[in-house]
Amino acid sequence: MIEVNIDLQPHNTLAISANTAFFARVETLDELREALSFAQQKRLPILPLGGGSNIVLTGDFPGLAIQVGLRGLTITPNGRGGTIEAAAGEEWHQLVMSTVEQGMGGLENLALIPGKVGAAPIQNIGAYGVELCDFFCSLQAMEISTGALHNFSVSDCEFDYRDSVFKGRLRDQFIITQVNLRLEQDWQPRVAYPALQQFIGQQGWDCDSLTPAQIAAAVIDIRNSKLPLPDQIPNAGSFFKNPVVNADIYQNLKSAHPDLVAYASGEGWKLAAGWLIDRAGWRGRRQEAVGVHHQQALVLVNPGRGCGDDVTRLARAIASDVQDKFGVTLEPEPRYYP
Ligand code: FAD
Ligand code: NAP
Repeated sequence: MIEVNIDLQPHNTLAISANTAFFARVETLDELREALSFAQQKRLPILPLGGGSNIVLTGDFPGLAIQVGLRGLTITPNGRGGTIEAAAGEEWHQLVMSTVEQGMGGLENLALIPGKVGAAPIQNIGAYGVELCDFFCSLQAMEISTGALHNFSVSDCEFDYRDSVFKGRLRDQFIITQVNLRLEQDWQPRVAYPALQQFIGQQGWDCDSLTPAQIAAAVIDIRNSKLPLPDQIPNAGSFFKNPVVNADIYQNLKSAHPDLVAYASGEGWKLAAGWLIDRAGWRGRRQEAVGVHHQQALVLVNPGRGCGDDVTRLARAIASDVQDKFGVTLEPEPRYYP
């Protein structure tokens, strides 16, 4: 059923109030096809919605927001590995925990990432040194212009650091309906991140006998200790991508700021955007209804339920200050609509 003039505030984790001209929740492929054909007849733009944890609503949306509610999760374990077929409307964290509870390894570092399965390939979600593409097999997506179903292999998706073909060349052309993953049997823990190392040390866990369940518990504990829960303090997670710069820029910054947090990444260096924002003096600052989280400067928060303009003004002020102080350009990670 298509609803008219619906406030999307409950459908985005920044809790921004903005109306969509039309709204549909779809639970089957036929319902999705019908919604797309309705939009096509009226020449409406489409906003596919999962949990709304990676979007910024800058104003009313003059089209059809489609909440993808397709359900279904099949997990087939095989030792530590196995296969997973998940419909787009399943909760990502529930999927991770279902594999961990069955003794399967691979996804544990990706625990507690908010949102739905269908959005996970869009930015190739990642955390603690693990990315969706490490376990990705294929996905099924419906073409918005025709309603036809297409299969995408890992190479078709052109995954990169927090990026995929669906943010680039094929942006706004497909709605992901199902994601298929494969976990290998020869699982190895991935615990290089300092926060994980520290937690494991504090617990006195033996690094040679770690289990996926222990690592999931560590990730959940660390995340709960520093990231605001969106239903308590509205936010969209990391607001900026970590910028990757060349070796010359990195060396200059490192000489000027010996405590710069940066990691080698491909040909260049990945700078911790949170460090740059913190060092520029923004951590914990409030600007009107919005602000910068006091424990993690990369997270912009909206405790006063401000509008999209409040969020974008703050984001622009931070990016411009970081540019002035460090000569580094910050790009927002969430997608702005409309
Ligand atoms: P939405 O916000 O609903 O949508 C995001 C984008 O994907 C939009 O452009 C939307 O149109 C599109 N989209 C959604 N569903 C579909 C679909 N079925 N087909 C086609 N397009 C679709 N991200 C990380 O990578 N790592 C993290 O560790 C992480 N931690 C976070 C922590 C917090 C507290 C928060 C609030 C966010 C975090 N994020 C993280 C960002 C976010 O959770 C992920 O990007 C997540 O995958 C978004 O899922 P969603 O269902 O909420 O997507
Ligand atoms: P953190 O552990 O304090 O680390 C700070 C930054 O340094 C991170 O951005 C991370 O890059 C990088 N880093 C740390 N150790 C690294 C290593 N061994 N090798 C390469 N890079 C390293 O970060 P945090 O903010 O608490 O987040 C923890 C993890 O959760 C990170 O992976 C982060 O991406 C993810 N996260 C993402 C979001 C989001 O919305 N996208 C929100 C919260 C947390 P990477 O970011 O590239 O990993």
